[in-house]
Amino acid sequence: MRILLVEDHVALARQVMEALTEAGFVVDHAGDGEEGHFLGDTEPYDAVVLDLGLPVLDGLTVLKRWRAAGRNMPVLILTARDGWNEKVAGLNAGGDDYLTKPFIMAELVARVRALVRRAHGHSRPEIILGDLVVDTAAQRATLGGAAVRLTGLEYRLLTYLALHAGQVVSKTELTEHLYAQDFDRDSNTLEVVIGRLRKKLGDGRIETMRGQGYRLATA
Ligand code: CA
Repeated sequence: MRILLVEDHVALARQVMEALTEAGFVVDHAGDGEEGHFLGDTEPYDAVVLDLGLPVLDGLTVLKRWRAAGRNMPVLILTARDGWNEKVAGLNAGGDDYLTKPFIMAELVARVRALVRRAHGHSRPEIILGDLVVDTAAQRATLGGAAVRLTGLEYRLLTYLALHAGQVVSKTELTEHLYAQDFDRDSNTLEVVIGRLRKKLGDGRIETMRGQGYRLATA
């Protein structure tokens, strides 16, 4: 799951990036509204954390432009304390949720997870696919009740496939959602990671659709 963070406060941005990375997300960061708008307009994100008070282009304008252009990724707005009018304006402009500064990182992570989950039609944190269970809150997977040991990248791949279980997901789409912009992909190419995941989950669970991509079985 790939998240865009648009926040100009350097120290806060670093903390948020650390918390989201630890929670199993890959994060791209933009420090002003113009760069943030560009990234959100051109890259496919699973969710955006958007500060409203931004240099160059304010967050509300960024959000309105995305929505006007049909970009419908979930957006969590960060607002200043006591800024009730900002919250209302942000939600009316197409924001999905908001958090008031200062906030607890665990709450931000939980809200981002919930937004991503709900965007895929899941109201519960566990995605149940037969005897395979992906727990997006605990960041773990079990197979027949036993924990599956996964690297961060394997977990992200499995979560993405699980949120799209039964659907064919192309290699391009997977690559775009699993790696941050500047990630060195060489030793972790998609085929290699899929291969490792197959060994851990057992044969037949991840199908290769020739020339199209991969599909995770729903049961
Ligand atoms: Ca700010």
